[in-house]
Amino acid sequence: MNQCIVCKTGWTECSVKIDGVDVAVCHTCLNMSKRNFIFICMGCGAVHIRDKDEMIARASDEIKRAYATCYDMQLIQGINKCVSCDPVGIVDTMEGNA
Ligand SMILES: [Zn+2]
Ligand SMILES: [Zn+2]
Repeated sequence: MNQCIVCKTGWTECSVKIDGVDVAVCHTCLNMSKRNFIFICMGCGAVHIRDKDEMIARASDEIKRAYATCYDMQLIQGINKCVSCDPVGIVDTMEGNA
């Protein structure tokens, strides 16, 4: 059993691959990832959760189309840096421009 990297309270045998690395994610967080984007900072390990509807509403048409195809997928992404590591760079990373 591994400790869930997202909530850091649940223990799980489930894992997802992020950038080729297996990370433990519990069922609760996997379910949550259907309706939220979960970004895990590879720099400091911080977890950032964004509401999918909210992000899609602000996205460009091109990104909206991309999101539409994977809307119901469980989306957990690794990011190289987060707001803690890089307060300026975070917007680009989250918007997919990095
Ligand atoms: Zn969890
Ligand atoms: Zn970070």
